[in-house]
Amino acid sequence: MNNRIERTLQADSGTTIRRFIIIFLPLVALVSIVLAVFYYGDVRTERNIIEAEEIHNMDLGMAIIVRDLGSTVSDLLVLSEQHELQRVLGDDGERRSELRDLSSNFLSFSLRKRVYDQIRFLDETGMEVVRVNYNDGHPLIMPEAQLESKAKRYYFEETFLLGRGEVFVSPFDLNIERGEVEKPLKPMVRFGTPVFDSFGEKRGIVVLNYLGANLIHDLERIFTDSVGQFMLLNHDGFWIKGLKPEDEWGFMYEDGDNRTFGNAFGEAWQEISAGEAGQFQDIDGMFTFRTVYLLLGDQRLSSGSDKAFHPSAAQLQTGDYYLKLVSRISPDVLKGISGKLLAQFLPIYALMVALLGFSSWFLAHASVERKRIEQMKSDFVALASHELRTPLTSIQGYAELILDGDVGEISREQREFLEIISQNTRRLEALINDVLDVEKIESGRMTMKREKVDLSQIVDSCVNTFKVMAENKGLQLEKDVKTSPINILGDSDRLSQVFSNLLSNAIKYTKEGRVKISACIKGEFASVAIEDTGLGMSPEDMKIVFSRFFRAEDSYVRKTTGSGLGLSIAKATIERHNGDIKVESKLGTGSKFEVILPLLKEAKKVD
Ligand code: ADP
Repeated sequence: MNNRIERTLQADSGTTIRRFIIIFLPLVALVSIVLAVFYYGDVRTERNIIEAEEIHNMDLGMAIIVRDLGSTVSDLLVLSEQHELQRVLGDDGERRSELRDLSSNFLSFSLRKRVYDQIRFLDETGMEVVRVNYNDGHPLIMPEAQLESKAKRYYFEETFLLGRGEVFVSPFDLNIERGEVEKPLKPMVRFGTPVFDSFGEKRGIVVLNYLGANLIHDLERIFTDSVGQFMLLNHDGFWIKGLKPEDEWGFMYEDGDNRTFGNAFGEAWQEISAGEAGQFQDIDGMFTFRTVYLLLGDQRLSSGSDKAFHPSAAQLQTGDYYLKLVSRISPDVLKGISGKLLAQFLPIYALMVALLGFSSWFLAHASVERKRIEQMKSDFVALASHELRTPLTSIQGYAELILDGDVGEISREQREFLEIISQNTRRLEALINDVLDVEKIESGRMTMKREKVDLSQIVDSCVNTFKVMAENKGLQLEKDVKTSPINILGDSDRLSQVFSNLLSNAIKYTKEGRVKISACIKGEFASVAIEDTGLGMSPEDMKIVFSRFFRAEDSYVRKTTGSGLGLSIAKATIERHNGDIKVESKLGTGSKFEVILPLLKEAKKVD
């Protein structure tokens, strides 16, 4: 026995670890799932913000291109119809002063607008008549000697073919001077429109060389604070603005054919070249793009020529002349976003796991400790009861031997004392049994048989047992069993113990009158009731009558023997049988305890 207690005392660290794992793992899993949901939610939100920002930037970029190029077209049309130009065309004699007026007009226009590298009027032969060079912010009217014939340049030929109000737009390319790409690079878009005299005769063209660098700067400004890299592509995928300056304007050079967006980002180019607008992600990052058409309804475009005096390669339709505005967020930047959020989440996660670890360990330890103490307690009770019962049995045995006269005659006084010893030994034994039962109920070790039990028989045998006790007290003991058998499923010994306890209480706490035990079937239940005409109970006492160690503060009750454990054991036993025990009582009138138990299925019948 002692060894058992000692074994229990040794804290089982293996159990603590097992319990810790059982508590800790589900909690960590839960916290991990919750934090993962928040983390991925945040990553998604961050991505949504960036995606929306890129789309917004694209829209701004589109608006800037349309605005800048649109105002160039209207500038061109205003210049082509101005009064000074008409006077130049109308006057065959004294042209000099009209030309001066027109030149100074072009000059002030160049100075004010600051975006035109050249403003020119060419006559019907392709000869430059007036030309103002922007000259990096110091516009100059070119002297007559420096004016050239542009009859063979594609923009003259293309523009001169157009009708009134029609506009020619060249491709976005680099300026060429004397057959060479001008250095530093001068991105350029030429706009031309024919000029008619007052007789409706086509007399030449006005050409504006728009400085493309302005447009590129305006677009770059939008993307300065963006995580995206901005690119501008022509319709073949050549870079006008690229990630590296050396990749730009590939189409202007003999060896530049492979310097295209398509070469660098093949997969993305397939999508971008085929679509009008979109946003997608591939191995090269996240791309957002828009297609910007440069030609409006009346405008014409030639594909131009990269050689100074070559005819243009083809005439394009409005829908063919477009640029692609593209932004790219590199995979590294994208990873950086989730990395940044991860860096915020990880410490929180680590902290939570640590906290869970500590509290789980604490809980596991406390629960094992509690179990251990409970085990010790129940081992102690079992041990103590056993050790107490052995000498008690021996005392009882010897007392009875002497009382039976087996060791010779005893005096009346000796008999009286021995009977007191015997009585108290029985009380002590009953108390020990009750304590053991309570301990078994508490520790969940109370075993209950499940066998067919006839309650009417149990009632019969209880009545037989208590008949003498009732008679001795002058009480009438009545039995009223309406049906027999009354079969239920349960443990007959335990149920006998319950009814004996209720019957003995009824007799014990009744001074005069009668005690009645009745049994019947009520629907699907068996009912056994024990009624008496005894002390009864106050409403307050009735509420706690089933509590352990409860005994009423009544002087009559206090004179009787009892542990206050019987009713709590009865209640626990009945509940283990899926039944219920109820009490009705009135102080000074009597009490009724009713036990309800589910009938065995085959035994159900209406009373
Ligand atoms: P015990 O009878 O050993 O005191 P019980 O748990 O059986 O313990 O009963 C608890 C208390 O309930 C009793 O002490 C008594 O005060 C009250 N009691 C039980 N049965 C009756 C009854 N039939 N009439 C009046 N009081 C009762």
